[in-house]
Amino acid sequence: MDSERLDDIVEENEESSKKDPDFVLVEDSDLFESCPDEVSISSECIDELDEEEEQENAKFVKTTRIFWGVLTAISALLLCGLIYMKYIMWNPTDRDLCQDNLFCGSSLAISPDELDDITSTLENSLGIKIEDEFKDEYALLYAVLENDCLTEDEKNVFYGFIDIIKDNPYIDREEAYRSLRNVDVLYKCRPYYFDKTVQGAYSHEFESIGIFEKDEDNLILKHEGIHAIFCNDKTANLPKYFKEGMTELLVNEYFESKPFVELSNYPFEIAGVKILCEVTSPDTVLKAFSTGDMDVIAQDMATITGDIEVARKALDAFGKVFLKHYGELEEDLTYEEIVNECIPVFRGIVTAKYKEEDANRVSYFYNEILLGNIFYDGAYDKYVDDLVEFGSDHKAYFSSKLKNKLASEEIVDKISDDDSKTYKKDK
Ligand SMILES: [Zn+2]
Repeated sequence: MDSERLDDIVEENEESSKKDPDFVLVEDSDLFESCPDEVSISSECIDELDEEEEQENAKFVKTTRIFWGVLTAISALLLCGLIYMKYIMWNPTDRDLCQDNLFCGSSLAISPDELDDITSTLENSLGIKIEDEFKDEYALLYAVLENDCLTEDEKNVFYGFIDIIKDNPYIDREEAYRSLRNVDVLYKCRPYYFDKTVQGAYSHEFESIGIFEKDEDNLILKHEGIHAIFCNDKTANLPKYFKEGMTELLVNEYFESKPFVELSNYPFEIAGVKILCEVTSPDTVLKAFSTGDMDVIAQDMATITGDIEVARKALDAFGKVFLKHYGELEEDLTYEEIVNECIPVFRGIVTAKYKEEDANRVSYFYNEILLGNIFYDGAYDKYVDDLVEFGSDHKAYFSSKLKNKLASEEIVDKISDDDSKTYKKDK
């Protein structure tokens, strides 16, 4: 066996010498001469070869261990880096959130005298006279006055939310106060983990708003500020389309000069919210948004369908339209399959509730047409084409001021070429 091995080695050497011109086989080499007999030479050589092999194996194992060790260390460093980046992204001032609160749930938890003191402080700061019937609502804005993280300009934006608060009997004021008392606004580069279309974001965890683009007229701040007021542990799990549609619709109705069309943010989500408002009522939809309970909408629908499960199934399917649009639907369903689960139920309710010429019924079908664009490529362009063809629907859903304005004067918001057609969003 050993001699065979030697023969093999010789053969290999001969072959190698043919392949490699630089290699010359020396048959009477020192190696052969220094070995007294053939067997002992072979044994030593084999031991040497085994030893080399073991050393090679040990070296390989060591190298592999070092490689995985370095990789694990780099991964751990990257993970720490990401956590740190997220932390400094949302919490740069390293502040402790203030737990002082004037409210318990939706009711004031202070004495009438304390409320009078707060009202006069607010009157002096805002330069206004607060009517008795709105003292509770303004007390919520005392949180803004006390918030040292906000600049005067930012505070003025938040004071502008008073009409949203006045029009909403369902808002959890304790949660809203906590957010307004602590919220910080950070003007930063867009974090790497956000899509390029994301203009801003709100973190309930850190009570921070991030704004990633130039914010003309503070529209991004207004959108994120509304998230701050309404986002709490109860509302956090509302469907994304519903949260964003409601938030942007509130921005439009309370702050925009053209309140009835959406040309840059969440047009389909707004159409979706308006559809739900027509199927039930704006009050029901506002209650669901403020309390985090979508079942309020299903219960309202059931007053017409007579079957709560039919209503829940339709509402759930409606949410899947948007999940499919976002690419987040786990089930393998076509738009047609999803739509068949909700639109016939919605139409049945609307046609049962309203006569053919009723404005609510007209608004429902108008928004159904707008939303229908979501099923096609180039959805946003098709949406704009529909706005140009059909015009905007002048209907206020939540803002009492806008409703009064509509009743007293004609508001025209024609779509012009100057209007932005860039579809943007936030988180
Ligand atoms: Zn948003």
